[in-house]
Amino acid sequence: MTRRLGSGSLVIATHNAGKLKEISALLEPYGINCISAGSLGLPEPAEDGTTFAQNALIKARASAEASGLVALADDSGLSVDALDGRPGVYTADWAERQWFEGDPGRDWYMAMGKVEGLLSEKGPEVDRSAAFHCVLAIAWPDGEYAVYEGQCPGSLTWPPRGKLGFGYDPVFVPTGSDQTFAEIDPGQKHANSHRADAFAKLVADQFSN
Ligand code: IMP
Repeated sequence: MTRRLGSGSLVIATHNAGKLKEISALLEPYGINCISAGSLGLPEPAEDGTTFAQNALIKARASAEASGLVALADDSGLSVDALDGRPGVYTADWAERQWFEGDPGRDWYMAMGKVEGLLSEKGPEVDRSAAFHCVLAIAWPDGEYAVYEGQCPGSLTWPPRGKLGFGYDPVFVPTGSDQTFAEIDPGQKHANSHRADAFAKLVADQFSN
């Protein structure tokens, strides 16, 4: 059986205020008080794993070791079937302008265009299936850990549609919908997303009786 989180403090291994807010709200009903790694001054480790689970564990373990507290981290991204799972763990990197132009900052339209360019090289009949993935990792300071993998299957469309959401949302159409994640009401997206799937698995394992 998986080790359980007790009520009390949990370090969220992120320096992203938006992620901290979202995760804190999800765990508050279970008596968990979330503290960000950023507010404790914890270092950000290099995410040099080759899977979402490895990167989530690298981040959770680094925070658990540095703080002596239980830590939770997430890693997410888009995997495209016809591109052998790419961009995968490099999802955010594909939007880094300096990779292409030596200019810092992220450009999501460039990243979506790169995916579309690679797909269209394969011809009009290419399989456009893709999935968003989210892995949550909990690490205890003594080395024990638990991993929860969520996904949201769908397909890619072109040109991008919609102004909501972030990242690759304007080209991703979840299975069962004809709207992109950037056209769907955010509440509905959050209820059915890869992150919701991973959290549902964490909650079922950690907090059910
Ligand atoms: P990380 O999990 O912070 O490493 O970020 C992974 C990247 O995956 C993000 O920067 C987004 O571009 C992309 N991504 C993850 N989840 C979503 C989503 O729900 N919609 C659009 N893009 C996403």
